[in-house]
Amino acid sequence: MLEHDVLVVGAGLAGMQAALHAAKQGVSVAILTKVHPVRSHSNAAQGGINAAMEEDDPWEDHAYDTVKGSDYLGDQDAIEVLCSEAPETIIELEHMGVIFNRGSRGQIDLRAFGGQARKRTCYVADITGQVMLHVIYEQLMKAGTQVYEEWFVTSLVRQNDAVCGVIAMDLRSGELHLIKAKAVILCTGGSGRVYEPSSNALICTGDGYAQAYRVGAPLMDMEMVQYHPTTLPGNGALMTEGARGEGAYLINANGERFMERYAPNMMELASRDVVSRAEQTEINEGRDINGCVLLDVRHLDRNTIMQKLSQIRELGLEYEGIDIIEEPCPVRPGMHYMMGGIKTDIEGATFVKGLYSAGEAACVSVHGGNRLGANSLLDTLVYGKRAGTSAVLYADGISSPDIPDSRLQEDREHINGILSRNSEQGERAAALRLAMGQTMHQHVGVFREQSGLEKAQDTIATLKERYRNVSVDDKGKVFNTDVLFALEVGLMLDVAEAIVASALFRTESRGAHYRTDFPERNDDDWLKHTLVFSDESGPRLETLPVTITQWQPARRTY
Ligand SMILES: Cc1cc2nc3c(=O)[nH]c(=O)nc-3n(C[C@H](O)[C@H](O)[C@H](O)COP(=O)(O)OP(=O)(O)OC[C@H]3O[C@@H](n4cnc5c(N)ncnc54)[C@H](O)[C@@H]3O)c2cc1C
Repeated sequence: MLEHDVLVVGAGLAGMQAALHAAKQGVSVAILTKVHPVRSHSNAAQGGINAAMEEDDPWEDHAYDTVKGSDYLGDQDAIEVLCSEAPETIIELEHMGVIFNRGSRGQIDLRAFGGQARKRTCYVADITGQVMLHVIYEQLMKAGTQVYEEWFVTSLVRQNDAVCGVIAMDLRSGELHLIKAKAVILCTGGSGRVYEPSSNALICTGDGYAQAYRVGAPLMDMEMVQYHPTTLPGNGALMTEGARGEGAYLINANGERFMERYAPNMMELASRDVVSRAEQTEINEGRDINGCVLLDVRHLDRNTIMQKLSQIRELGLEYEGIDIIEEPCPVRPGMHYMMGGIKTDIEGATFVKGLYSAGEAACVSVHGGNRLGANSLLDTLVYGKRAGTSAVLYADGISSPDIPDSRLQEDREHINGILSRNSEQGERAAALRLAMGQTMHQHVGVFREQSGLEKAQDTIATLKERYRNVSVDDKGKVFNTDVLFALEVGLMLDVAEAIVASALFRTESRGAHYRTDFPERNDDDWLKHTLVFSDESGPRLETLPVTITQWQPARRTY
């Protein structure tokens, strides 16, 4: 039987960082991923990573901007850790070989990002995530960490109140395996694809949220779903906030820089929730161009675009047939990031013993109601390290788990059911996935209200019913992506259910969660986190206080 002290699920930045720091302590560590590590979604991060790098920029200012950005829902102890450890994290990356852009004095150059009072974003052109992911992958290879590459976790094993392993499919052979581990760290990333469209890769299906939820670990603030202000209308691809950081304008059909009316001080660089709502209001009130507003960089110097924004120039050319040097590009708010996730403490521990989490999968919570651009890459590294370290401490104190082989049976039956159903009569996973994604976008997007949320709730319940009859055309074993896709949809429906239940529960507007039927923030009743547990009868909701250290809630304007 396969066995490790610590098993990390996910090889994005959070997973690889957790594995590296766990391995440093000399225990047996393995990392498991459904795609090759450098194909993880971290690869797509364009704009950069935040840190207070300049002498006259105390980390407390970065923390304050993050707290304000979170609409005071972020836990301030966690935000203090994030921001105070940021500069040393950048230096570590530098030393590993990340070639950050340099300024005229040879210092790490900084660009402006939304919701921050000054420039604080370190970057590598507009391919920051790609460079970071490749560099950290080199470190993983150097450390000789075992990688289960193209393996898919189907469920977590929980025994005697503790998680002690996973069931996973080797996609190459289609075989299911039980992998024992004293501690499991879920770094499975976000669930952008529960929405359609989304800026996220197709693999961002939130598997870890559903798997943690199913073994009793609550998910926190799942209603906080970030819509990014600048995604392409066709496929939802992202045009980095770095463009506005370099000075891009947003204009409406009348040619107005409409942000003047919504955020007169910060304009295009207000927080993402504020800019997305402003755009959606312009669109809803008819000052749009085919459901979009325009991102305009024509006034920027050609060299700046070619050197710092070349990837988004290519995206514009490829998907919209527009050269951003010559013409403004249509954009609209699109699903981008999950602020919520598996509830952890600042050491990465969840509510279930033996189960840890970091990165977008986790909610520690540093982003609260709205994440600042470029704080997520930072979150993956700071909290990946902590989760890796504390999982080892826990694993050190316990003996090897004893799990009967029969535990494989349940997952085997589920998969055999999918394979054996008649594909003519069964339900197509793709159809269920599309219906779910479109419902979520329509009713649980930038603006929400009770009746729309209830419609979404009904639709998701119906889709879950239909999922029982899901079937596939490919009946083979080797690299059966048809089965993989079907398994993912089953997990995604649980994530959708948790998001909708949490959005119905929070009867106020805060951060990315804007209820048109409760348009004000209500600190008296709702300065608290939502926690959703999976019960036999469906989602069960509770609340948890927000940790406040230095910054009292105040009115939020930009
Ligand atoms: C287009 C785009 C641009 C972005 N730009 C920025 C930016 O400039 N700055 C910033 O701070 N943030 C940015 N973000 C957000 C940031 O990139 C992500 O939040 C972050 O990289 C997530 O890292 P992660 O390690 O948590 O997960 P990921 O990198 O998504 O990795 C998840 C891993 O989990 C594995 N996995 C998942 N489910 C399973 C399963 N069932 N079995 C086995 N393995 C599994 C996957 O194979 C993968 O290896 C951007 C996001 C997107 C989508």
